[in-house]
Amino acid sequence: MKRRDFVKKLGAGALVAGSVATAGCSGQQQVAKSGGASSAKSYRWKIVTTWPKNFPGMGTAVNKLVALIDQMSAGRLKIDVFGAGELVPAFEVFDAVSSGTAEMGHGAAYYWKGKSEAAQFFSTVPFGLTAQEMNAWLYYGGGMELWQELYQPFGLIPVAAGNTGVQMGGWFNKEINSPADLEGLKMRIPGLGGEVLRRLGGTPVNLPGGEIFTSLQSGTIDATEWVGPYNDLAFGLHKAAKYYYSPGWHEPGTTLECIINQKAFAELPADLQAIVTNACKAINVDLLSEFTARNNAALHKLLTEHKVELRSFPEDVLKELRRVADKVVAELADRDPMAKRIFTSFHKFREQVAAWDNISERAYLNTRI
Ligand code: CA
Repeated sequence: MKRRDFVKKLGAGALVAGSVATAGCSGQQQVAKSGGASSAKSYRWKIVTTWPKNFPGMGTAVNKLVALIDQMSAGRLKIDVFGAGELVPAFEVFDAVSSGTAEMGHGAAYYWKGKSEAAQFFSTVPFGLTAQEMNAWLYYGGGMELWQELYQPFGLIPVAAGNTGVQMGGWFNKEINSPADLEGLKMRIPGLGGEVLRRLGGTPVNLPGGEIFTSLQSGTIDATEWVGPYNDLAFGLHKAAKYYYSPGWHEPGTTLECIINQKAFAELPADLQAIVTNACKAINVDLLSEFTARNNAALHKLLTEHKVELRSFPEDVLKELRRVADKVVAELADRDPMAKRIFTSFHKFREQVAAWDNISERAYLNTRI
């Protein structure tokens, strides 16, 4: 079977419905290798995460995920959670799961741009899709199949497993009144958003969550973004910066991922495979709901108790960020044929969904102003 055909077969529906084996196996071999539809055999897996263990939101979602898998499998698949640095450092999660050191990982695809720049499309793109639009693209717009194809050579199966919703623009110790205020700014901002900052004269830095507060407080970085009120409050970022900017133009709906080692997945019986992928799907929705609910309360606390100064990026700053971001994303697509295919699918979907969202979500939200 050609890789393309295999990946097509591996599409979102196939993942839920049945067994998946490594490329090149016949259908019969896949069934044999997966151990059939179900079995009494028990499995013990490890999941490594890019977040600190038990971190509110992302970390606790992983705890929920493994508890759900344990419950749904009646204890036949138990998964031990390792936070960032416990088994491997945060940014070695991809390699650890690819090599089989751990069977699963939880993180965000833009952390792996060093493996493939195109991976960034599957976390978030500046001025890209919102959370609901990302889910629509992944599940019903061809995104999932492209993501699986991209990770296939690494021996990994990606699954969407959480979304932050629209993030915040970040924490600054000076006001951003014009694009020139971004010049010389050393800011923790990952992915394509970081590249946009670089083009505007800033210095993007990629730090795991657990290192942000100390870096900001010590002045190693001038500014940072992290997620939104709920997570930012948990890290105490308001203690190290004065201004809190909206919106998160660089992360309009960041998909978090579970990556699964292909070989380990293939060894599971079909029912456990379905449990793993569907539990991830449940967590994908659950985490977005949790963020939406908890961000409200945390924002209120930041503004009333901690007297944080809320700011919006001025129109001309957002316009310039958008101009540069479109260029950065288009250039990424031009560097690599796979990135081009993903960009084409993503871009087309964004155009189409915008037409609908403008007369639905946007039109409705405007009535509430
Ligand atoms: Ca972020």
